[in-house]
Amino acid sequence: MTEAMLGFIGLGNMGGPMAVNLAAAGNALICYDASGTAERAPDGAQHASSAAEVAEKAAIVFLCLPDGPIANKVAGELMAAPARIVEVVVDNTTSGANEARATHDMLAETGIAYADAPVSGGASGARAGTLAMMVATSDALYTRLEPLLLPMAKNARHVGREPGQGMAMKLLNNFLSGMAMAATSEAIAFGARQGLDMATIIDTVSVSSGTNTAITDKFPKRILSESFDSGFATRLMTKDLQLYVDSCKQLDAPRRLSETLLEQVWGQMLVDMPASDFTEIYPFTLTRDK
Ligand code: NAD
Repeated sequence: MTEAMLGFIGLGNMGGPMAVNLAAAGNALICYDASGTAERAPDGAQHASSAAEVAEKAAIVFLCLPDGPIANKVAGELMAAPARIVEVVVDNTTSGANEARATHDMLAETGIAYADAPVSGGASGARAGTLAMMVATSDALYTRLEPLLLPMAKNARHVGREPGQGMAMKLLNNFLSGMAMAATSEAIAFGARQGLDMATIIDTVSVSSGTNTAITDKFPKRILSESFDSGFATRLMTKDLQLYVDSCKQLDAPRRLSETLLEQVWGQMLVDMPASDFTEIYPFTLTRDK
């Protein structure tokens, strides 16, 4: 199914290739990115000069922005567009659950529906259309959206009906991913001290009980090769973990490991290597965690 014209705002490492896949599925798109739309939009898409212009030409608008405050601000710009036709906002940003609820409630005041729909799978998954997408919205809206989501996210899941539940699913996933990266870095540093070869460790652990996504994906593809090019910034990993820990505190949920991971690993790495890719956790671990 295609909708008349879809909007896409935020064409970065994730939003750029997601918009390409949405267009490739036969959907007409109007796009906007504050850093320059023309060089980031898919071929054939219309270029808007503001979020408001997108709101005036598209009934369904996707957001893939750096964080919750920016997504909330852009949602406000959509709402305020004088001749808006937008009726649904699909938020692919990783915001916190609270931020998603705030954006949902703000949009609801003007009758615009909201689905939180953060993604997992990295820039390579975004290019391949194989992302996981964690969607929280009503059954009726999910049914309408699903044909649009699947070309971007083969692994879309309708995880809940309450705003913020998609974000909560994403944050708990990224806590696990961040822990796997940190723990695997420490384990491989130990192995190296014992004279074990990194490629051998990866090959062996990947078929053993310690396997995880760091060992099956990030280490073989981005760290062993020293390319450090996952496209997921340390700044974004730290933002996600901070949101997770903040939510745990708010709900008095267990957080011993996540708090330690934030304070002693990712938070420190952000201070030492503010512009790094998150796969640089291994060199960070070697130099910092002695
Ligand atoms: P990015 O920084 O590469 O892209 C964000 C884009 O938003 C940029 O092109 C920027 O110019 C644009 N932008 C910022 N403010 C804007 C505004 N006010 N109006 C219009 N455009 C604006 O970030 P990314 O890596 O694509 O991540 C986007 C979201 O997806 C983040 O919330 C991130 O946590 C999440 N995410 C990222 C990955 C990854 O591997 N990169 C994986 C899963 C989820």
